[in-house]
Amino acid sequence: MTKSSYSTIAEVLQWAYSQLASSSDTAHVDAEVLLLHCLNKPKSFIYTWPEKALSVQQFRAFNNMVLKRQQGVPVAHIIGEREFWSLPFIVNESTLIPRPDTEILVETALNLTLSPHAKVLDLGTGTGAIALSLASERPDWKVTAIDKVDEAVELAKANRQNLNLPQVEILQSDWFSAVKDRDFDLIVSNPPYIDAEDEHLNLGDVRFEPQSALTAGEHGYADLFHIAEHAREHLVHGGYLLLEHGFEQAIKVREKLIELGYQQVATVRDFGSNDRCTLGHWLS
Ligand code: GLN
Repeated sequence: MTKSSYSTIAEVLQWAYSQLASSSDTAHVDAEVLLLHCLNKPKSFIYTWPEKALSVQQFRAFNNMVLKRQQGVPVAHIIGEREFWSLPFIVNESTLIPRPDTEILVETALNLTLSPHAKVLDLGTGTGAIALSLASERPDWKVTAIDKVDEAVELAKANRQNLNLPQVEILQSDWFSAVKDRDFDLIVSNPPYIDAEDEHLNLGDVRFEPQSALTAGEHGYADLFHIAEHAREHLVHGGYLLLEHGFEQAIKVREKLIELGYQQVATVRDFGSNDRCTLGHWLS
């Protein structure tokens, strides 16, 4: 149903909540984010000016966005943007929408004691969220980000430009293929780790994200284990491997890292208290 009879901010928001309530768990936030995008205003605007009328164009744009959201399209895809580590990232259908859960990986990496000019590799960078966030905090780190998917490489490059972080190197690469002879002080990755049979793939935003960014063989462990195995050939003595994984995968990931010879293996929980990343120290 399209909205045509009310036109103030308060009224269209109310209408949008009611339209989205049955299809989204986050109807209120969704409606506000979509409206702010149409109005191109800071958040305070809708609370300060609830009686202000929308222009016809704003009104039409908001209607269309609410209808898309009703069909399940992620808010990030509708507005083409998602905030991560307080930075705006351009997003599209080619890759994963950055998740707040992944911020713990960035925080864990930043807490490591590394040289000011550390060489860092981000595998499967997608939007570039991890690599560019790290580079924004540590401008002297030499960050390299790779992705196998050409469209994701282009997207990460667009984000690099938008965030003005030209020092980050972004390459098309099938895991380590483009960095064969190179060593790093830190290798990070948020690879695909969902089991292709997982029923969560039929719910919410993941329905609109590519399988290439979500699922991996061996019940989701194939890429995690591949990276852990081959990272050993690309880590300096004293380097670190830091992997994001599913909240139920921590034990097997730790066991694998220990089996592969990593030391001081430890899992870190995300801000929702779920096991989210595992760190290994390479001392061989
Ligand atoms: N954490 C994401 C999810 O569960 C998946 C990310 C990934 O596979 N790397 O929706």
